Amino acid sequence: MAAHLETDILIVGAGFYGCSIAVALRRLGAGRVTVVDEAADIMTRASFVNQARIHNGYHYPRSLVTAQSCRRSYERFRRDYAFAAEASFTSCYAIARNSRVSPGQFESFCREIGAFLAPLPASLANLFDPQLILAAYRADEMVFNATQMAAKLRQEIAETGVDLRLGTKAYFTGDDGARAHFRLSSGDEGRCQFIVNATYAGLDSFGVTLGTRIKKELAEVVLIDLPPELKSIGVTVMDGPFFSVTPFPPLQCHALTHVRYTPVCAWDGAMPAGLPPAGHHPGLNADAILRDSLRYMPSLARAKVRSSLLDVKTILLRNEDDDGRPILFERAPESPRVLSVLGSKFDTVYDAIEALCQVLDLPSSPAL
Ligand SMILES: Cc1cc2nc3c(=O)[nH]c(=O)nc-3n(C[C@H](O)[C@H](O)[C@H](O)COP(=O)(O)OP(=O)(O)OC[C@H]3O[C@@H](n4cnc5c(N)ncnc54)[C@H](O)[C@@H]3O)c2cc1C
Repeated sequence: MAAHLETDILIVGAGFYGCSIAVALRRLGAGRVTVVDEAADIMTRASFVNQARIHNGYHYPRSLVTAQSCRRSYERFRRDYAFAAEASFTSCYAIARNSRVSPGQFESFCREIGAFLAPLPASLANLFDPQLILAAYRADEMVFNATQMAAKLRQEIAETGVDLRLGTKAYFTGDDGARAHFRLSSGDEGRCQFIVNATYAGLDSFGVTLGTRIKKELAEVVLIDLPPELKSIGVTVMDGPFFSVTPFPPLQCHALTHVRYTPVCAWDGAMPAGLPPAGHHPGLNADAILRDSLRYMPSLARAKVRSSLLDVKTILLRNEDDDGRPILFERAPESPRVLSVLGSKFDTVYDAIEALCQVLDLPSSPAL
């Protein structure tokens, strides 16, 4: 028989956003908080399938606002997640010959945002093809271990008394003027004061209309083992159709992505039929990703490909060209009690919590 669930805040999606928001809201005094996710565990989707970069601004020379916001959250994020931050590698940023940004522009951009930049030692600079790479620098950027972050969040969810229900899909069903109503795949129905739609790739299929247009891509992250001389570096080639290869701590390998080939396909609206599911895959564009990347860094030819990770990347359409990465935060037209949140990067979680605190009338606090 279907049960009835009465809660104060329902958070749909137990990715990094949903879990962090749940813990933060409980710590800030929210009443009953329930988190549901259709997956069997927390942080299995985009919060696991990503490049693991803790952004420190370098990536966004075309969006000063985003770069400065990364700089502001970088210290806080790496303090809050010090246990999961991996810094034991050299982070290199290289400027390609046909880049949208010149070495001089990149240097002055880094000066403007106050980000550390230094010449690469010759032993590392020699890894790049001098015909294709104009300049290469040492930067200050880390990666995170999503598995360790998930373990901490599981513990915090238990400590703060969040009601976590896995293997459960949720749908919005209506608003009676005092409560939002929802249905769960278990057959249970429920009511609550607020719903936080933190479903990322599922944002527009939860049952509410999104005013902001989003675009989705099936993204392929290639998992590779690098030869010993490359094991302790991360490389990002800027700024255009190039590649990044960064340590991927959860699987103790590197994650290789390419601006042109990582998006396997893109859509705006309903997901095309026949796409492979998220998760491990033998590889779709992996050959093209590796082939093009090693033109810039020939030693990548000695990389061993393990497999690929696929997932849906969700981007605000308006920021496709300028590379801005603000959060999406909007109330549903169907119910002012449904708040949809899209985090474009891990560090923007602070903006999402801040925005929620204002709506829920909770004291905003840096405590996560
Ligand atoms: C290829 C790629 C590379 C990236 N690289 C970086 C990077 O280097 N650094 C960085 O900071 N960010 C990066 N990002 C962005 C980052 O991964 C996301 O901003 C972040 O993971 C979003 O977290 P989330 O909790 O909103 O989403 P998710 O982790 O996807 O969580 C959403 C959850 O909602 C659940 N769900 C969906 N619909 C329903 C429903 N109806 N009912 C119940 N559950 C539902 C899903 O099962 C899922 O677990 C990258 C993203 C991708 C795809």
